[in-house]
Formats: sequence, structure tokens, C-alpha cells
Amino acid sequence: MNHLLELLSQIPDPEIPVINIVELGIVRDAKMISENEAEIVITPTYSACPAMFNIEEDIIKLFRENGISAKVITKISPVWTTDWMNDEAREKLRDYGITPPEKGANENHLNVPKKCPRCGSENTREISRFGSTLCKATYQCNNCLEPFDYFKCH
Ligand SMILES: [Zn+2]
Repeated sequence: MNHLLELLSQIPDPEIPVINIVELGIVRDAKMISENEAEIVITPTYSACPAMFNIEEDIIKLFRENGISAKVITKISPVWTTDWMNDEAREKLRDYGITPPEKGANENHLNVPKKCPRCGSENTREISRFGSTLCKATYQCNNCLEPFDYFKCH
């Protein structure tokens, strides 16, 4: 992992602080373009997420503290998909109590069972299309009756 990615790994996702923005897959490119200037390309996970607006500021601030001036470019195409999230991030999500999206799944596959992060049961139901944030839906397990968040695929 290069130095820039190491720095970027220090920035947590604004909504799910256990995951950093590199694991989440929103950092598309990070390179030095001159001796103390870096160019960072990010693709927001969800354009309607207000939290995404803070990431650019966080990057600029962190790099400034490390003596690098960062130029952040937001690229919205190709769109971020949950497939860009690495396996480590998926594990952390599950430990955090949020069911991670299955690889290759998307919103059109609504029949894909959402496993309960606590007991692993697939017998779950959606109780709210929008959970604590726009990016998550709230489900409830019919087995252990625990409510849980599902990170929506898109
Ligand atoms: Zn359960």
C-alpha cells in the first residue's frame, strides 16, 4: 500500500466509523502530482448522502497536517457499487451489526435474503426502507427478533 493510501486509511467512513474510506472502495486513485501535491480521486457511495460532503474536507485537512496539499477530484462515473467494498470491510460491517451487501447483488435483487448479523438466520423482514441513514435499510430478524441495519446495495 502506498503512503497516500496509508494516510487515506486513517479517514473513517462518516456513517460507519469502523470502516475507512479505502476499504469502502471510494478512493479510486491517489498519486503525487508534484513534490508536495497529491491528487485524490474519490467516487461517493451515494450522491444523496450528506455525509459524503465532509470526506473531501477531511482529506484536505489530513494531508495538510502531513505537509501535502491535496487536490480532491470527485468522479461520479462509473458509479460506486457495493462490489468495490473489500472483504475486510464486509467483515467489519458484520461485526458492527450491519449486514453487508452480498457481492454482485443489487437493488433489483430484492429477493436476496438479508442475513441476521446476530444469529445468521435468513428469516428476516424489512421494517423500514430508510434506516438510520439513507444508505441503510432497517430489517428485523424473525428468529431472534433483533432489528438490524442492512447496507443497501446500489
Ligand atoms: Zn437473528
